[in-house]
Amino acid sequence: MNSKILKCNISKKCGSCQLIDKEYSETLKIKLNHVNSLFKQHKINYQIKEINPSPNITKYRNKMIVGFRFVNNEIIAGFYEENSHKVIALDNCLMHSDVQNKIVKETINIMKSLKLRPYDEDKKTGLIRYLLIKEGFKTNEIMVVIVTGQEVFPGSNEFCKRIRAIDKNIKTIIQNINTRKTSVVLGEKEKILYGPGQISDYLCNLKFNITSKSFFQVNPLQAEKLYQKVKEYADFKGNEVIIDAYSGVGTIGMFLSDKVNKVISVENNKQAHFAAITNAKNNKIKNVLFYNDDATDFINQLSRQREKIDVVVMDPPRTGSTEQFIMSCVKLKPKKIVYVSCGPDTLARDLELFLKNNYIITKASCFDMFCFSEHIETVVLLTNNFKKQ
Ligand code: SAH
Repeated sequence: MNSKILKCNISKKCGSCQLIDKEYSETLKIKLNHVNSLFKQHKINYQIKEINPSPNITKYRNKMIVGFRFVNNEIIAGFYEENSHKVIALDNCLMHSDVQNKIVKETINIMKSLKLRPYDEDKKTGLIRYLLIKEGFKTNEIMVVIVTGQEVFPGSNEFCKRIRAIDKNIKTIIQNINTRKTSVVLGEKEKILYGPGQISDYLCNLKFNITSKSFFQVNPLQAEKLYQKVKEYADFKGNEVIIDAYSGVGTIGMFLSDKVNKVISVENNKQAHFAAITNAKNNKIKNVLFYNDDATDFINQLSRQREKIDVVVMDPPRTGSTEQFIMSCVKLKPKKIVYVSCGPDTLARDLELFLKNNYIITKASCFDMFCFSEHIETVVLLTNNFKKQ
C-alpha cells in the first residue's frame, strides 16, 4: 500500500479531495468507519470489515471538466471552488491522467495564440466556456468537447488542427454550445468538428459507446471489481430472472446476462436507456430487456402482476431508493437483493426498511471509487428470511 502523503497546492480551495492530507490506508479506514457508524445509527446490527482499495489511487479518473477565466490578463483553467463560481487555476491534477492534464495546458496555449477568449457569463463576451475530456482507458481513445458560449466559432478549423496535434489518440472533437446562464456544463446543441463524435471503451470485456453526454463509470478499473463482487454475491445458478434497477447504460445487467436466464433493466433517463439498447446490440446480448421508466413505478407494477423474480440488483443514485420501491421489492420475495450504493446515508436508511421486512444482511463490502474524496461505494447482499411456505 502506498504510504506517502500526496501534495496538492489547491486542495483546500478546490475541495474535491477532502482527505488528500492523509495516507491512503488512513483514508480507507475513515471511509469504512463512516459507513459502519451510519449502520450503528440506524440500528443495523452488521459491521463491514472489507474495503477494497482502488487499483490506481492517482490518475484514476477517465473524465475531466475544467472551466476557463480571464484573470490578470491571463487565461486560467481549472475546477470550480467549492460552492462557488470561482475557477481555481489548475496546475496538474493528481486524479487525472497525464494526457488529460496536458490537453488542458495546451488548450490554454492554443487559445492564447488564436486569441480565443474565455466566455464571460455575466457580460456574455468571449467564447470558450468549458473543456470536457473523456478517455477510454482500455482503448486509449480520447474525446475533446469544447463548450462555447455562442454558436459562431471563428477559427474552429485551426483550433481543431492544433488540438489534434496535442496527442495522436484524440479521436474526436466536439463543439457543444451552451448559451444559458447555468452551472450545467453541457448545452443541448452540438457540432462534431472532427472524427465520429464518440469514443468507445471496455468494461468487463464488454464494449461501450461513449458520447459527450452519456454516463460512464469514472473509475472503470474499480467499477470492474465492484461488478465482480455483485456477481460473486448473487452466485447465480443459471436459470434466474433478475432485475437490474437504476441500470444507467446497462452495464451491470449486461455483465450479469451470461449467468442468468433473463435480465429486466429499468432506467428513467431516456438517453441512458437508448444507449443501453445500442450497447446490448453491439455486444450481441439478447436476454436483457430494457425499460425506460421510474424504478419505483416499474417495480410496483411487477409486484401487482406477481412476477417471479429471483434476484434484484439495485444501484440507485446518491438519494437512494424509495419506501415504495423497497416495499414492492419485498412483495416480489426475491431470494437475493444486491444493493449497490454510492450514498452511505441513504443506504443505511434503505437497509433499515429491508431489515424490518424479513431480509437480512448476509455479506457487505466497501469499494473506494473516488480516492481521497469523502465518497464511498458499498455492495450489500440481502437474503430473505421468509419462513418456508
Ligand atoms: N447501474 C449503472 C448506473 C448507476 S447510477 C452503472 O453501474 O453504471 C444511477 C442511475 O439511476 C442513473 O443512471 C440515473 O439516471 C438512474 N435513476 C435515477 N433515478 C431513477 C429512478 N427514479 N428510476 C429509474 N432510474 C433512476
